[in-house]
Amino acid sequence: MTATRILVLNSGSSSVKYQLLDMRDNSRLAMGLVERIGEETSRLKHTPLGTGAEPREQNRPIADHDEALKAVAAELSHDGLGLDSPELAAIGHRVVHGGQTFTQPTVIDDAVLAEVERLIPVAPLHNPANLTGIRTAMALRPDLPQVAVFDTAFHTTMPESAARYAIDVKTADEHRIRRYGFHGTSHAYVSRKTAELLGRAPEDVNVIVLHLGNGASASAVRGGVCVDTSMGLTPLEGLVMGTRSGDVDPAVIFHLMRVGKMSADEIDVLLNKKSGLTGLCGDNDMREIRRRIDEGDQEARLAFDIYIHRLKKYIGSYYAVLGRVDAIAFTAGVGENAAPVREAAVAGLEELGLAVDGELNAARSDEPRVISPEYARVAVAVVPTDEELEIARQTYALVAKQAAERND
Ligand code: ADP
Repeated sequence: MTATRILVLNSGSSSVKYQLLDMRDNSRLAMGLVERIGEETSRLKHTPLGTGAEPREQNRPIADHDEALKAVAAELSHDGLGLDSPELAAIGHRVVHGGQTFTQPTVIDDAVLAEVERLIPVAPLHNPANLTGIRTAMALRPDLPQVAVFDTAFHTTMPESAARYAIDVKTADEHRIRRYGFHGTSHAYVSRKTAELLGRAPEDVNVIVLHLGNGASASAVRGGVCVDTSMGLTPLEGLVMGTRSGDVDPAVIFHLMRVGKMSADEIDVLLNKKSGLTGLCGDNDMREIRRRIDEGDQEARLAFDIYIHRLKKYIGSYYAVLGRVDAIAFTAGVGENAAPVREAAVAGLEELGLAVDGELNAARSDEPRVISPEYARVAVAVVPTDEELEIARQTYALVAKQAAERND
């Protein structure tokens, strides 16, 4: 197979993020974002990479995903990277929910589309948008392999003891209620990179991955295989996040219904959009929260402490799940950048072999790095995530394997 480029598409309800990569050297040829699709104020920002060309912006109404993707295709053509290029091997789509069906990246056909559609009740916000993006891309290049890479796939290896909620089995099965987990592409990438950083094979390494972005999740990875993760049926469970509560007593919801007279939709918005750091202190950006703490702001301090307390609980519980931990890897916006979060998360855990070196923790870098002192039994690492590269890698591996089977 001579084609080596992969276009990665991440389609949201009103946005499309994209990157074009060349898998010969994992280099990025272009990236961009279309946002506010369907509004008057839509915007396309396209950044050619590696050519020295300036980013270009279009500010004009873009009615739907079809128009958005055609505009992206035109921008790529302008750089000589058009979707009609014979060098384009496939399009890789991020799909949020693959349920129990999709455990691997999958070439999309009608049956796959139907199954992703069947999963809409468990991912009402994400799967419809992902499907729209896929259908639009398929209409543009019907001859090209299109691959779905699922956020849930990496977590499908969780044992039933971790994946099941302790609720009536019949009811759970009827409504497909179980713990699916999300951010799987990131957890897969970061756990593998962490093993690489330690100079060991992924099969030999047990890692706790802390993906701390606006959304946040932890996972316990034993020998490259996920055995537990903090998000559940939806991305609401687990850690304290930018705007999501993470774990709460489920009875909070009945209480808000019965006593607070709130509707299910109102509580959904409350827990997903108005909780977490935002709900606790009005800010969801860790930089702003740290700035306020430095000024003596008590509300910001408490929000930070609650965030860290939850994080610590998950580190401790995944330590127990794994039995032996070789590394803890911090990733995503907060994990990669916020040294005080990393320091506070492992503070006092020396008995577990956990510590960070102040200087190594404070040093800024875009590279994967170990920040624990020499003597520490467990490596604490900062490993920048790259979900687009991982989607491209999985997409390319699948189409190259199929091409080899056909002897292309
Ligand atoms: P998303 O979940 O939206 O992909 P990111 O992984 O990009 O999120 O993380 C975004 C968050 O990262 C911001 O809300 C902010 O809290 C945090 N962040 C980004 N840069 C820094 C920084 N330099 N210091 C502390 N926090 C940061």
